[in-house]
Amino acid sequence: MDRLGSNILSHRCGHSLSDMPPAFEQHEAFLIRAAFPCPHCLTELARRHGLHTRAYVNMQQLSPSMIAFVVEVAHAADELGDLLSVIGYGRSTPSQDEMTPGTQAPGEGTVWRKEMWFASNTDTRHVVALVDHIKLEMTWLSRYLPDGAVGVEFCKFPGE
Ligand SMILES: [Zn+2]
Repeated sequence: MDRLGSNILSHRCGHSLSDMPPAFEQHEAFLIRAAFPCPHCLTELARRHGLHTRAYVNMQQLSPSMIAFVVEVAHAADELGDLLSVIGYGRSTPSQDEMTPGTQAPGEGTVWRKEMWFASNTDTRHVVALVDHIKLEMTWLSRYLPDGAVGVEFCKFPGE
């Protein structure tokens, strides 16, 4: 798998990029992840700092006609936050529940939040595609969590 050229086949830490499912080539993190330390180095960093980084995946109604899949990453080391910030996550306060979403708090929020919006009358196929995208993203992100896939929570909230 070196058709991308050997110069970008390693992470910033020097460890090589690991294989991901072919579908991941379409994901926004596919290339940019190389500019950051690898999952192993970032999970070690989290462990050293005693951070139990977790991702929370939920659905929230953010306006009368719009719903969003929301991912919130809590207890992330700054270095993981840097990576999340380039693939659409922003600093936010933690959501309490479906009806009490977190709000953007640039520079001070304690979680990293990403919203993927869709209209409540969106074609089901589009929603299923979004679900697949989130599953792919969580499969990738779980490698950066000290607890791995166990660190990804569905229908639970960081502020609970
Ligand atoms: Zn590394």
